[in-house]
Amino acid sequence: MIGKIIRGIAGFYYVYIEGFGEYECKAKGIFRNRKIKPLVGDDVEVEILDKDSKTGNIVDILERKSELIRPAVANIDQAMIIFAVSDPAPNYNLLDRFLVMMEQQGIQTIICFNKMDKAEEEERKKVEEVYRNTGYQILFTNALAGDIEEVKAVLRGKSTALAGPSGVGKSSLTNRLQSKVSMQTGQISEKIKRGKHTTRHSELIYMEEHTYLLDTPGFSSLYLKDIEKEVLQTFFPEFDHYLGQCRFNGCAHINEPDCAVKEALSEGKISESRYENYKLLFEELKNQKKY
Ligand code: GDP
Ligand code: ZN
Repeated sequence: MIGKIIRGIAGFYYVYIEGFGEYECKAKGIFRNRKIKPLVGDDVEVEILDKDSKTGNIVDILERKSELIRPAVANIDQAMIIFAVSDPAPNYNLLDRFLVMMEQQGIQTIICFNKMDKAEEEERKKVEEVYRNTGYQILFTNALAGDIEEVKAVLRGKSTALAGPSGVGKSSLTNRLQSKVSMQTGQISEKIKRGKHTTRHSELIYMEEHTYLLDTPGFSSLYLKDIEKEVLQTFFPEFDHYLGQCRFNGCAHINEPDCAVKEALSEGKISESRYENYKLLFEELKNQKKY
């Protein structure tokens, strides 16, 4: 049988087999001699040992589509980051930092702004303005009213890494999302709550057919790693169009004259907020090098 590793603890792998539930497995046999180590997110072949106690052996790992390093997880299709449009106001630096981290790892991110009921029209416009020309898909939700159809559609059939600071409605939203899976009601939100104060391993949660959510732990410490400051600009999609058009080769788009990025900024094609965060992150990467 084929299932997906949703959690790994102390030598055991918990494999979700759709239609059958969760099996506690060990990695055994031929498979052990291979160099590849099973990861959360791996699709695996399970040899069932006992149906009642739900135990089995993992005998093979199916080919990985992708592999995330932070957190270590396989076959994530996309990421969704949740912020409140208001109360608390979005932390754009944290948001851009997350976007850069996902760009670095080649994962597409969807931005979800929750608490739309609390937002003035102005606040919605502001958000749209900041991310204009970035190409990121932006969703607006009201988790309290259950206004989440768009989110459901975006998640369907995929494995999505979910992230966001606390207080933005992440639990409320995920609670709503899984309301159809009656057996599991409360599961994701409880895990998210629990996760607030403890460091945990990554864990996938089954939502519906072929649909999984990865609750991404440690969101508060999003420090950039292994990025050359010169490469940072390539992780801002709306800069793409202007790279190579500056007067100087290797322009950092900060103090150089005749800079196409700064020109785009002055024409409003790149937003102030994004550009400022680019500069802040650039400085941060520059200082990292010193230590
Ligand atoms: P989490 O910390 O991100 O998991 O956030 P919670 O789901 O615990 O929500 C934090 C607070 O915001 C709670 O009081 C929720 O009732 C409230 N909340 C969540 N979603 C919404 C929303 O769409 N609109 C409003 N007005 N409040 C919301
Ligand atoms: Zn430039």
